[in-house]
Amino acid sequence: MTAALSIQNLQKTYENGFQALKGISFEVQPGDFFALLGPNGAGKSTTIGIICSLVRKTAGSVSIFGIDIDSDFPAAKRLLGVVPQEFNFSQFEKVFDIVATQGGFYGMPRKQAEERTEKYLKQLGLWDKRATQARMLSGGMKRRLMIARALIHEPKLLILDEPTAGVDIELRRSMWAFLEEINALGTTIILTTHYLEEAESLCRNIAIIDKGAIVENTSIKSLLKTLNRETFILDCSEYL
Ligand code: ADP
Ligand code: MG
Repeated sequence: MTAALSIQNLQKTYENGFQALKGISFEVQPGDFFALLGPNGAGKSTTIGIICSLVRKTAGSVSIFGIDIDSDFPAAKRLLGVVPQEFNFSQFEKVFDIVATQGGFYGMPRKQAEERTEKYLKQLGLWDKRATQARMLSGGMKRRLMIARALIHEPKLLILDEPTAGVDIELRRSMWAFLEEINALGTTIILTTHYLEEAESLCRNIAIIDKGAIVENTSIKSLLKTLNRETFILDCSEYL
C-alpha cells in the first residue's frame, strides 16, 4: 500500500548552521490518525514547513500518496491540507472570504468554493461569524478558521501543527470530535502536539521527535505499555 506520507532521511540545516533535522524517516498509512509528538524546538514545525514547501530541505525526500514533492509539488499539494502553527491570514479579511478565496487557489469554480465554505464554516461553528473580520475572532475561532480553509479542496491528507495549543479544554474536546469525524470519513490526519494526552485520546500511531531525531515510532497502545516502565517515565518526563 502506498503511504499517505513517506519521509525518508529528511535533513534540515538552517542558514545559521543550526541542524534542526538530523535525517528523520517515518511513514503514515492511509486512513491513520497519526501524532508527531515532541517538546518545543524538536523540529515538528520544520518538518511540516518542508512538507508544504515553505521551508527548503537540506537533504532527504517527502512523498504524499506516492507523489514526490520535488517531482510534482502541484499534484502533491492538491492532496494536502495544512493548518500551520502561526495564524497566516489577513486579519482584516472577512471569515467567509478567507475560506472561499482559498478555493480559487485550487482552480475551484466560485460557486463550489462558496458551497464548501458554507459547509465547513457550519461544521466548525463559524457560520455566524462569516461576515466578521478575522481579527475579531478568539484564538480558538482563528484556529477553526484555518481548519475550514485547509479543507476547502477536500484533501486526502490533513496536517495540523499544534492545533489545540492555547485552546481551552472544552473547545479542545469539540475540535477533537470534529477531527475524529473527518478521519472517520477517510481523511488521513497528522497532528503535531506536545501533549501526550492529546496524542493518546486521538491517535493510533505516533512518532516522537526530539532534537531533530525520531526517538520512537510505534502504535499509541504499545507506547503506553512502555511508558508504564518507571525508567521510561523518567526519560520521557518532558513529554508528559
Ligand atoms: P517545534 O515545532 O518542534 O517546536 P521547530 O521546527 O519550530 O520546532 O524548530 C526546531 C529548531 O530549529 C528550534 O531549535 C528552532 O529554534 C530552530 N529554528 C527554527 N526556525 C529557524 C530558523 N529560521 N533559523 C534557525 N533556527 C531555526
Ligand atoms: Mg512548532
